[in-house]
Amino acid sequence: MKEIADRIFYIEGQNRGRYPDCHSLFVNDDVSVIIDPAGREDVMKQIAAGPGADVILNTHYHEDHRIYNYLFNDATLLVHELDARGYGHIDEFMSGFSVVNSPALKELWRSFLLETCKYRPYDLSGTFTDGFEIDLGHTTLRAVHTPGHSAGHCCFFFPREGIAYLGDIDLTLFGPWYASNNSDIDAFLQSIERLRQLRPRAVITSHGDGLITERVDERLKRYAEIIHQRDEAIMEFVTQPHTLEEVMTLEIVYRKNQKTPDAFFYWDDRLMIEMHLARLLKAGRLQTRGDAYIPAGQ
Ligand SMILES: [Zn+2]
Repeated sequence: MKEIADRIFYIEGQNRGRYPDCHSLFVNDDVSVIIDPAGREDVMKQIAAGPGADVILNTHYHEDHRIYNYLFNDATLLVHELDARGYGHIDEFMSGFSVVNSPALKELWRSFLLETCKYRPYDLSGTFTDGFEIDLGHTTLRAVHTPGHSAGHCCFFFPREGIAYLGDIDLTLFGPWYASNNSDIDAFLQSIERLRQLRPRAVITSHGDGLITERVDERLKRYAEIIHQRDEAIMEFVTQPHTLEEVMTLEIVYRKNQKTPDAFFYWDDRLMIEMHLARLLKAGRLQTRGDAYIPAGQ
C-alpha cells in the first residue's frame, strides 16, 4: 500500500493490474472505504483483519472489480443504480455479455467466473447516482457517473486532493472496451470529456499503469482518440464494400487469433465493431449495400 495523499492508499494489483487483476484504493479515514477490492488478496486480507472497511464502492458490476468484496462482509456495499442488476445470479450476470452466444465458451467462462473471480451474488446495501458524496471525516469522495464501459460505471473523485479513481477508463494502449449489452461508445467519449473537465492532478486506473501523476489530460485525450482511430480505420477500409466479418479482419480492437467464433474474444470484437458500424451509420458516414458497408453517398 502506498499513501498517495493523507489517508488515501493506492494498492497496486499484480501483473500491472492485468485482467482479472485490478488496482484498488483504500481510504483509511473516520469512515473507511475500499474501492474495487479485486487485486492483491494478501493486502485485502490485511485490511479486512486490520482497519477494516465501513464501505465498499465498486466502480461497476464487472467480475474483476469485486473479487474480494466478500472479505468485507459487514461493510456497506454500494454501486451506481444502473449496475445493480449485475449483482444477482451468475446467469443473469453473464447474460449481458456477448460471449454467451457460444455455448462452449459460456461454460468455460462460467467456471472462470466461479473459480478465478470467485463470483457470488451480493445483496447491495444501496445504490447511488451521479454526484453522490460521502464525507469520510478528513476527506470527501464524490461519485462521477461515467457510463460507456457499462451503463452505471462511475469514477470516484476526491475534490480536495484532486485525485480520481477511474476504474475501467483504464488509459491502456488497448483502448476503451465497450462489449456488453449496456455499453455505449458515445457515452464513453462524453465520460472521458467529463473527466478531463475535472482536471484531476492524479488518477488511478484499475488496469495498466495504475497510479498516473503526469500528463493526465494528455493520457485521457489519447485514450478517447483510440475510439476515433477505430472509426477512421473502418471508414478507410470500406472504400471497397466489406461485410462485418471482413471489417473484423482489420484487427482494430482485438488482434490475431480471435477471429473465429470459438475464440474467446471473437464475440467482444464482433460486438464492438458492430457498435462502430452502427455509430457510423447513424452519423450518416456509412450506408449498407446488401450485407456490405460502403461510404454514404457512394
Ligand atoms: Zn469492466
